[in-house]
Amino acid sequence: MDLIFNCPKCEQELAVDSSGSGEEIDCPNCGETLVIPQPNSPDVKTSTGPVPTVQIDGNDGEPQVVNAIASSAAAKVKMHLKVPVTSKPAEKLIAKPLAPLEVAAKESDRKMRVKTIRHVDCVEVGHDRFDDVVTDFLAKIGETNIISINPVNYSYLELGSQKELTDYGLVIVFKA
Ligand SMILES: [Zn+2]
Repeated sequence: MDLIFNCPKCEQELAVDSSGSGEEIDCPNCGETLVIPQPNSPDVKTSTGPVPTVQIDGNDGEPQVVNAIASSAAAKVKMHLKVPVTSKPAEKLIAKPLAPLEVAAKESDRKMRVKTIRHVDCVEVGHDRFDDVVTDFLAKIGETNIISINPVNYSYLELGSQKELTDYGLVIVFKA
């Protein structure tokens, strides 16, 4: 329901939502601070239908809409006052955000993969980094993506001694 009343200073006719009763607004026409009257005040008309937001009596007595700037200013006042009426708990705070399409696509695109880590490949200048390499790799793919970790033995020809040596490693099956 809209309240229709006149600015006490400039007589500008104003229409605001009745929920704004008692609130202070600035007259969009003259800037005077005024209090929105109660719907049952004697000087107030009410309307439930659409009404021009700003009207002024013309010379012929017919209501005329004043200039566009004043109209839009009144419209803003009206919008502002309607906020308390339409405000509801923010639903977005409750609803879970949907996963972005990009992420969803990646989920379905993920494939089974295999990583073989050989112990011999992790020895650098007599420094055994096998545990570090495995730890780093597992951290990189993430625990939830690990499907299985299997120990393997293999033999290889050591270049220096030209001997066939047996060593160990891991075969890691994961999703990525
Ligand atoms: Zn005024």
